[in-house]
Amino acid sequence: MNPTISIVTGGAGFLGSHLCDRLLAEGHSVVAMDNLITGNMNNLAHLAGQERFRFIKQDVTEYLFYPGHIDYVFHFASPASPIDYLKLPIPTLKVGALGTHKALGLARSKNACFVLASTSEIYGDPLVHPQNEDYWGNVNPIGPRGVYDEAKRFAEAMTFAYRQFHGMNAKIVRIFNTYGPRMRLQDGRVVPAFIGQALRGEPLTVFGAGTQTRSFCYVSDLIEGIYRLAISNESGPMNIGNPVELTVKQFAETILRITGSRSQIVHNPLPVDDPKQRRPDINRARTRLGWEPKIPLEAGLEKTIRYFRDRIDSTCGR
Ligand code: UDP
Repeated sequence: MNPTISIVTGGAGFLGSHLCDRLLAEGHSVVAMDNLITGNMNNLAHLAGQERFRFIKQDVTEYLFYPGHIDYVFHFASPASPIDYLKLPIPTLKVGALGTHKALGLARSKNACFVLASTSEIYGDPLVHPQNEDYWGNVNPIGPRGVYDEAKRFAEAMTFAYRQFHGMNAKIVRIFNTYGPRMRLQDGRVVPAFIGQALRGEPLTVFGAGTQTRSFCYVSDLIEGIYRLAISNESGPMNIGNPVELTVKQFAETILRITGSRSQIVHNPLPVDDPKQRRPDINRARTRLGWEPKIPLEAGLEKTIRYFRDRIDSTCGR
């Protein structure tokens, strides 16, 4: 494939920064944009001085200007953890709605391909299991997660409208729970929460009885799926995630086993509207992109634990 130029909104975030790395590794050029409200420049520090990489501090809900040629706009900017979007409800709505509009407008003006980072949250608390792309979802618009879920649903509708009305090459990837290095220890999501607690010797806070399920995809597998979607003739929506499903309780036990931690498990109240089950049906990605995840949970967790271990004060108990 010829070298391309991409804009990655949310480029300083967990997924955005890994996407930048992958595009650069494939020989492409990247302009990362981020307003750094949840993103962090440390995620891009290793790219400083790279000739094919540029960072622009930018709030993507405002008018986006970029003078040069662009082949792709990857719209990955958004708070993405439940505690982030509880703390930042209006910015979450704005980046999903106004930010998607601006990013689509930029892509259209450049005749570029647009790729929206959507989410399994658009399925809400699903009544269909596993979730395939034809399921419309079960979302509470005014619940605490509604700001994220509805922003992403609107973003999908907007992306689809640009595709239909303007004939744009606009794609949608629905990202399921993903983990790996560069997640923030304090972002409240279950992977950094449990690993941080286990490494510090604190109790693991299982919400509710821990019977709710999730399916965790290692970040390099996810980025591979997104990259394949971007360069394919497919436009999605396309689920990308790992279909191996486990309960949150089983996940806590797995973390205890792999870290060797002697932490206890405690039960805290279940957050409102917490989805009871989630597992991607990835048949579409398998058949149309030839993609499926390769990294087993334990191997991915070991890499992630190593990353967090380096960031936790070694004087804290394990
Ligand atoms: N969870 C938990 N303890 C924590 C953080 C999360 O039991 O300290 C649960 C949460 O209730 C949910 C699951 O883990 O059922 C995944 O939560 P996360 O915030 O990672 O993402 P979600 O899939 O809910 O968007």
